[in-house]
Amino acid sequence: MTSRKKLIAGNWKMNKTSADASALVAGIVEAVGRQTDVDVVVCPPFTSLESVAKALEGSTVKLGAQNMHHEAGGAFTGEISAPMLRGLFATHVILGHSERRAYFGETDAAINQKVLAALKNQLRPIFCVGETLAEREAGATLKVVQTQLEAGLQGVNQDQASSVVIAYEPVWAIGTGKVATTEQAQEVHAFIRGLLTKLFAAPIAGKVRILYGGSMKPSNAPELLAQKDIDGGLIGGASLEARSFVELVNAAIAAK
Ligand code: PEP
Repeated sequence: MTSRKKLIAGNWKMNKTSADASALVAGIVEAVGRQTDVDVVVCPPFTSLESVAKALEGSTVKLGAQNMHHEAGGAFTGEISAPMLRGLFATHVILGHSERRAYFGETDAAINQKVLAALKNQLRPIFCVGETLAEREAGATLKVVQTQLEAGLQGVNQDQASSVVIAYEPVWAIGTGKVATTEQAQEVHAFIRGLLTKLFAAPIAGKVRILYGGSMKPSNAPELLAQKDIDGGLIGGASLEARSFVELVNAAIAAK
């Protein structure tokens, strides 16, 4: 039993046309759009933010984006800013996802700028950290996570810190079907909680939600969500169908 409300966030990545997104969100809203036991966030592609926002009106499900630029506006072709996301009623934004780090060259410093810009604009960052398989095999998991976490949260103040959501996503578990064992996940989550306690006051660290991400499914979620420092999930593949996503939300409700 913890005072932290569990959070299930769906990262739809580059999937779903606007019409597909509307159908998916309708199924989610119908099943879990009124409950308040856990927080639920859906993160569609930018092209569906507006239609999904409309479908979420009057429900308890919140809207998130998958990325943003750190500047509020200007000559940044192809980019989207925090005020634009706020204008579409987004409340969350995924930042520093390993796919953005690996395929789009996002550095810890760039992610830090985005985290600060999100907070300044009242968007809650879902800030992702996690090691690659090579880093885990080299015994560097905790060091890698520490470096990413400290760099990404640089300049975040005590008042802002409890709005941040951390997602621990071992890169080797994302989209691979290989899930971290509950012990592996809980070890890193507890380590992150300890780092947060050093960076911010203990009561603040106790409020920050730390999500697990990496092949989380209805079959493995109950065990993961029962861990002391696992406060929910960032879900890729299993968030693309209402049925599996809703099952994950129900697993979080059962584990609350
Ligand atoms: C993700 O990309 O954030 C993720 C956790 O993906 P999957 O659930 O498909 O492993």
